[in-house]
Amino acid sequence: MKFNQLGLSQPVLAAIEAAGYTSPTPIQSKAIPPVLNKRDVFACAQTGTGKTAAFAIPMLELLQLEPKNDNNIKALVLTPTRELALQIEENCLTYGKNLTLKIKSIFGGVSQVPQVAALQKGIDILIATPGRLLDLMQQGYVHLSDLRILVLDEADRMLDMGFVNDVKKIVAKLPVKRQTLLFSATIPEDIRKLANAFLRNPEEISV
Ligand code: AMP
Repeated sequence: MKFNQLGLSQPVLAAIEAAGYTSPTPIQSKAIPPVLNKRDVFACAQTGTGKTAAFAIPMLELLQLEPKNDNNIKALVLTPTRELALQIEENCLTYGKNLTLKIKSIFGGVSQVPQVAALQKGIDILIATPGRLLDLMQQGYVHLSDLRILVLDEADRMLDMGFVNDVKKIVAKLPVKRQTLLFSATIPEDIRKLANAFLRNPEEISV
């Protein structure tokens, strides 16, 4: 399997090539086509399998087709830690380097001032840890009514870290008509329940 067999556009393929990737990993081959087809995806994949690119590449691809004449957040990636948020932001910037999407991560433990400034300037893809996002939402800085894509990254770790109520409160504020992708290294009962609540007729993938 090659990246150019997955239905990706030339600007995205060029960025993937520049990153030095020669072929997609199994999770990427399995997840990219259904995401591009706007399906919900429920994926079981560990860190190190290339799972970030598996959601980031098709998400970037779908969003570049959207009108960009507004400042609304079009995709939200929820992830448990600051390190993961920064890593996802960096990966999105790498794969999206030939696109014009605005990508930004926000997380706790640092000043909210630059994060609020970025939100006010406009962000297409927001990557966030649940606690800081909910805090900024409650202060009225985050507008999610135009959201198209929600990604829950390392969902099992988010639950283990006690973010379940924050995640539920955030998702309750999102448009019901959206595409949802849930990635988890393990699928215990509470993750399956979350998937049942958040996903619609998902394509189930494991590697
Ligand atoms: P992840 O599982 O998302 O944490 O990715 C693990 C590492 O694999 C990251 O350093 C990625 O940059 C790298 N990676 C992801 N996809 C590919 C690929 N198709 N070919 C080579 N490296 C990749």
